[in-house]
Amino acid sequence: MVYDLAIVGGGAAGLMAAAWITEQYKDAETRPSVVLLEKMPRPGRKINITGKGRCNLTNARMWDEFGVHVHPNAQFLKNAFYGFSSSDVMDFFKGQGLDLVIERGQRVYPKSMRAMDVTDTLVRCIRNGGVVEVLTECPVEKVEKKEAFELECGERTISCRKFILATGGLSYPSTGSSGDGYSFAKSLGHSIVHPRPSLTALVPEGYADGSGLSGFGRWLCGLSLKNVAMSLEVGSDIVQEEFGDADFTDGGIEGPLGFRLSRKAVQALDNGQRVSVLLDLKPALSESQLAQRIKREASSGNNTLRYLLSKLLPRQMIPAFLNLNKDLAQMAPGKAAERLPHALKQMRFKIVSYVGFERCVVTNGGVSLKEVSQKTMESKLVPGLFFAGELLDLDGDTGGYNLQIAFSTAVLAARNALL
Ligand SMILES: Cc1cc2nc3c(=O)[nH]c(=O)nc-3n(C[C@H](O)[C@H](O)[C@H](O)COP(=O)(O)OP(=O)(O)OC[C@H]3O[C@@H](n4cnc5c(N)ncnc54)[C@H](O)[C@@H]3O)c2cc1C
Repeated sequence: MVYDLAIVGGGAAGLMAAAWITEQYKDAETRPSVVLLEKMPRPGRKINITGKGRCNLTNARMWDEFGVHVHPNAQFLKNAFYGFSSSDVMDFFKGQGLDLVIERGQRVYPKSMRAMDVTDTLVRCIRNGGVVEVLTECPVEKVEKKEAFELECGERTISCRKFILATGGLSYPSTGSSGDGYSFAKSLGHSIVHPRPSLTALVPEGYADGSGLSGFGRWLCGLSLKNVAMSLEVGSDIVQEEFGDADFTDGGIEGPLGFRLSRKAVQALDNGQRVSVLLDLKPALSESQLAQRIKREASSGNNTLRYLLSKLLPRQMIPAFLNLNKDLAQMAPGKAAERLPHALKQMRFKIVSYVGFERCVVTNGGVSLKEVSQKTMESKLVPGLFFAGELLDLDGDTGGYNLQIAFSTAVLAARNALL
C-alpha cells in the first residue's frame, strides 16, 4: 500500500504532528492513511528527560518576546507559531486532560511535574483516535524518491506520497536522536548547516583534567549562583551579556546563564577564537558601591582577604576565587581590599572546551532554512517532503522554546502535508 503520509520520528514533533492529525480526522468519514515510524521501542524518549524530568513544554510569552529566544532566524518560525502558538499548545494539552502550571519566566509545565505525562498524553491521543498507525522499533535507514517516496526500515519498505522528516538533532543520542535525518535530507539534495552542540556546559581552563574534575572544578562543582551577571568575551570583544542564575556542574559552567552563552561560545571555540566568561558576582553594586561595602566590613578591625570574602561570597566559592586571583591573595590586606571590587565584578574564566552532543540540550545547525518554505514547512527542492522540529536549523534558549518550535513546525507541516 502507499500511505498518504509517513511521519519519520516519534519525538516531540512527530508525536504532535500525529496527535494533531488524529484530532482533525478522528470523527471524519474519510481519513487519510498515515503512519508514524519510530526507531526506538517507545516514542517520546527525549520528552521524558526534558526540564529535569518535569518537561517545560512551552513558554507562555507572546510572539514579540518569544521570538527573541529563537535562533538563528526567528522570522522563519513566525508563521508556524501563529498557526499553533504556545496558547494553542496549552489548550491542546488541557483539552487532553493534562493540567498545566505557569512558573517564573512564563515557563509552562504539567501540574503533575512529570515529563512522562506529556509523552503519555500525546501517545494516548494518537492510539485512542485510531487515525495514525504507529510502528516502533522501525528505524528508517534509507529514503528514496521514486514514483512515491520509499522508506527502507530493515526488511520493510514503506511507500508514501508525502512524508514529514522529524528525526531530531544530535543531542542525547541515547534517546534515539542520532542525526539520521541529516543524511536523508542530504541524499535528497538538501544542505545541512554544520550541527554543533548548544545549551551545553562550558569548560574553564583548569576545571577538569583527563581523569575528571581537577582541584578548581572540585571546589566549584555543585555551586549554584543566583542573580549574577555573565559576559562572553570573544577575542577582546564582549559579544553577549546576560543576567540570572548559573550553575557549576561536573561538566563546567551551565545553568540558564552558561547555557545562554554556550551558543556563541561553542561557535567561537570551533573557529579557534579566544573565549572567556566574565562573572560579575555583585551586579547590583557598582565598583565604588562595592568598595564602600568592603570598607564597612573591614572597619570591624579585620581586613584580611579571607574575612572579607567570607562576608561577600558563598563559602564554596572562596577557594576557587583565590585560585583564580592568586595575585590578590599574595598582596598586603589593605591593597588586596582595594583591588577586590574589580575582581568580584570581573572573575575571569578562560574557556577551553565544551560538553559535546552526548549531554547538550539542543543542536544548533541542521537543514538549511533557505531550502524550506516557512509557510508550509515543505522542501523547496523536493515536493512532498516536509520538515519539523530540531532537525531544522532552528533552536531556542532554555525556557520551553525548543519544544514549542517542535510543536509549531510539526502542526504546520501536518496541516500542509494533508492538503
Ligand atoms: C536533557 C534535555 C532537556 C530538555 N529540556 C527541554 C525543556 O524542558 N523544554 C524544551 O522546550 N526543550 C527541552 N529540550 C529540547 C527538546 O527536547 C528538543 O528540542 C525536542 O525534543 C526536539 O523535538 P524533535 O521531535 O525535533 O526531536 P526528538 O524529540 O529528538 O525526536 C526525534 C525522534 O526521531 C526518532 N528517530 C531518529 N532517527 C530515526 C530514524 N532513522 N527512523 C525512525 N525514527 C528515528 C528518535 O528516536 C526520536 O524519537 C531538552 C533536551 C534535552 C536533551
